Formats: sequence, C-alpha cells, structure tokens
Amino acid sequence: MKVWIDQDLCTGDGLCEEIAPDVFFGLDDGLFYVKESAGKFGEEKLFDGEANPAGAEGTARIPDGLDEAVIEAAEECPGECIFIEV
Ligand code: SF4
Repeated sequence: MKVWIDQDLCTGDGLCEEIAPDVFFGLDDGLFYVKESAGKFGEEKLFDGEANPAGAEGTARIPDGLDEAVIEAAEECPGECIFIEV
C-alpha cells in the first residue's frame, strides 16, 4: 500500500502524526507530509531529514506493519486529505 497527502486540504492539526508518527510529520509551513520520499519508493528506509514532495508526488510505500495506523489516520483526518492507494 502507498500513501500521500494533499497539502491543499491539510488543516495542520497534526492528528496524522499523533496516530502514525513513523509515517507522517509536520514542516515549518504548518502542513503535514509523508516521511518516506517518493525518491526512496520501494526501499525500507524511512525519512532521513529531507523534505518530501507535496501532494501525489510524495506518494510513498507504507512501511511494513504500519498499514492499520495509516488507515486509521486517513479515517480520522479532518481534512480528508490522506489518500491510500492499494
Ligand atoms: S490529519 Fe489530515 S488535516 Fe490533520 S495534519 Fe494530518 S493530513 Fe493534515
């Protein structure tokens, strides 16, 4: 499964990071992003400090064992802006 966030709809409340801190994080712009960058798609490596692209360009593989947390985050997201692709 893969996940991305539409930052145009993100409210910046941080609920996604509370639910799945290994997958989502906030930047100084007040918006939230997927940690694993599209450039690392398919690798096991998580976020290494580089900003992830916004929107669908930031689509990334969900790390093993975190599918349920990401699904919960998407269900709880008030902006309805976390998109999961199977
Ligand atoms: S839960 Fe949704 S609206 Fe809230 S910060 Fe995360 S992506 Fe943005």
